[in-house]
Amino acid sequence: MRSRLKVTGIVQGVGFRPFVYRIAIGNNLKGYVKNVGDGTVEIEVEGSRVDIEKFVLELFSKKPPLAKIEKVERADFEDHIGYGFFTVLKSDFEEKESASLIPPDIGICDECSRELFDPTNRRYRYHFITCTNCGPRFTIIECFPYDRHNTSMIDFPMCNLCAEEYSNPLDRRFHAETIACPHCGPSLMLLDRYGSVVEGDPIKLSASFIDEGKILAIKGVGGFHIALSAYDDAAILKLRRWKGREQKPFAVMAKDIGTAKKFAYVDEIEEKILLSPFKPIVLLNMKEDSNISRFVNPGLHNIGVMLPYAGVHLLLFSESKTDVLIMTSGNLPSEPIIVDEKDAVRSFSGIVDYYLVHNRRILHRCDDSVIRKVDDTLCFIRRSRGFVPEPLPVKGVVDVIALGGEENVAGCVVSHNKMYLTQYIGDVENIETLEYLKSALKRMMKLTACKPKAVAHDLHPTFNTTVYAKELSGQLNVPNVSVQHHHAHIASVMAEHGLESTIGIAVDGFGYGLDGNAWGGEILFCEKERFERVGHLEEHPYLGGDLAAKYPARMVFSILYKTGLIDLWLKSNSQKFHHGSKEIEFLKLQLESGNYILTSSFGRVLDAVSTLLNVCDIRTYEGEPAIKLESFAKKAAGHYIIKPIIDDDTLLTTPLLENVIENLGRVPAVELAYAAEEYLAHGVAEIAVEKAREYGVDNISLSGGVAYNEHISKTIRRIVDSNNIKLYRNVYAPAGDGCVSLGQAYLVGKWMLE
Ligand code: ZN
Ligand code: ZN
Ligand code: FE
Repeated sequence: MRSRLKVTGIVQGVGFRPFVYRIAIGNNLKGYVKNVGDGTVEIEVEGSRVDIEKFVLELFSKKPPLAKIEKVERADFEDHIGYGFFTVLKSDFEEKESASLIPPDIGICDECSRELFDPTNRRYRYHFITCTNCGPRFTIIECFPYDRHNTSMIDFPMCNLCAEEYSNPLDRRFHAETIACPHCGPSLMLLDRYGSVVEGDPIKLSASFIDEGKILAIKGVGGFHIALSAYDDAAILKLRRWKGREQKPFAVMAKDIGTAKKFAYVDEIEEKILLSPFKPIVLLNMKEDSNISRFVNPGLHNIGVMLPYAGVHLLLFSESKTDVLIMTSGNLPSEPIIVDEKDAVRSFSGIVDYYLVHNRRILHRCDDSVIRKVDDTLCFIRRSRGFVPEPLPVKGVVDVIALGGEENVAGCVVSHNKMYLTQYIGDVENIETLEYLKSALKRMMKLTACKPKAVAHDLHPTFNTTVYAKELSGQLNVPNVSVQHHHAHIASVMAEHGLESTIGIAVDGFGYGLDGNAWGGEILFCEKERFERVGHLEEHPYLGGDLAAKYPARMVFSILYKTGLIDLWLKSNSQKFHHGSKEIEFLKLQLESGNYILTSSFGRVLDAVSTLLNVCDIRTYEGEPAIKLESFAKKAAGHYIIKPIIDDDTLLTTPLLENVIENLGRVPAVELAYAAEEYLAHGVAEIAVEKAREYGVDNISLSGGVAYNEHISKTIRRIVDSNNIKLYRNVYAPAGDGCVSLGQAYLVGKWMLE
């Protein structure tokens, strides 16, 4: 008998063909296996019926760890071709009708790690050791199919020994496209601050420089890191001054899981994801007695931790006395991560002492992914290296592209009913990040053979992404379609879970509303592609937009001004306003004049509470006052409760702030912080439950940047659960603005179908 199988899923670049070869030989079958240009694998086997059935079973049961089989299409034939052997055929370039899966970058595997430190192995201490189970993929792919000549490894012709392993179906490196050795592969170099080569062992030298308190730039998988000891206050403060980054936490890399457990609590779920081949940064709760510098994560109860994921990291830790390093993305403030040596030397002059670089080109820059466990669910804060470009399969969506909002942007490309989020781009507020978004989208369109029928974007008229969407739609000669920000948030959850209708809770910072106001605490009824705003937080004057976000005292002012409760507070807190009492007078005039927009932002209310409780008065990074409020509230016992007041589907926030300010000094500040979070979470959940009943919907969706807040997220879920309604959240996409493009693409992709 003869069978032809077409396997769809993550089956290229993960050791799938050698695996097929082994099980075919093992079952006495003849025929071939080959990668097809659309990302699938084609297999033909000839032999007895029993052997073929066994082969097919093993295809699923014994598949390589990184392979993911989505679907196997099988056709059986009675005739015999009479194959003499089982062979691995070359890739097929002709077929390009549909996009499939490109593997993400995979952290170094256990076997390669062992060989790295085995003196008898020919790749002993070779930093670019990889195999079919590990190594970079997405960051070095130029185009499909995933074959060496389509990657930046084309610069390094294989030596004879590597070529032998590459062509031996029984070798772990059979068709490992990143195969290399000290003889033929990329090499490491250490450069000084001027870009001149430093003689000596680059790893040993780097390790000793780090121990001495020097600051290094290290070229890794998706770009440069700036690396330094996480114990060294002076070096960290120097970096903070240079970056103009006073407070924003830095991520660290710990030597191993044991080291991470010395300064952070790691539970089972967190340990599993830390050790996984994707190697993300995971936010972990800090231990009280940790001896990591307090300047790593000022004012926070948690710290971003990752483990070594490339040979160079392991080698560095093996030589260094420092077991925890700050490893922060190597970029200039609000610019994309740097991938090129020359750019690095130019950009980091004045801060970086040495550059540990290699000579393999990074074709797609890619930041580290960031994950946090919220209410026992792993949530992406940033979905990038290790996960991109894994798609989200959906139904009934035409090819479109979507540009997202303005902060924490990732683009989205829809091709053949698969939605691909690009890597994390950042805040698209300048030319550099906009260029990055453009190139990331272009590459993703090429890799997935996307033929867009529309360009989706935010409703905000002046976002850079909106302006570019219009330009792009002209170039592509397709329409551009705007989507309201919070509708996009909730639609992303609908896309992930295949929901036809839902009541959405958007707990967010800022999004341009249908009425031109600054929305951000919204209850939406969403059905198919349309939505209705059915509830929201009380609206307050948004005095000065961005300034009100930077100085939360402005929110306190606009919320409490009418109550007359703040005169006393203003007297002793004028320093919380950028220009002190002069500014307060100005704000009064502005309020009287009525010349302002309104905001129903959830985040801004948390910010206001944060400054009322003296937790955080100035926002130096996105979400800072609210994030620090969460850390602060964690110390509460939770016995002080403020009952939410809802009026006509509006959660009133004036009474909340009144309560807080009246109880300052009477109730412990941590309890007030906790009570405020509880109030807001409770309030929006109650409205959502009521609306679910009213609209006959059996589920509620939660999205938005505040969904990362453990206490708020848990409280909402508890209330939704207790009403026997199912709560859905973002799992594939970040709940923050990284999901906005996904929601936009989903809505517009469906809308275009009709
Ligand atoms: Zn490996
Ligand atoms: Zn070699
Ligand atoms: Fe948002």
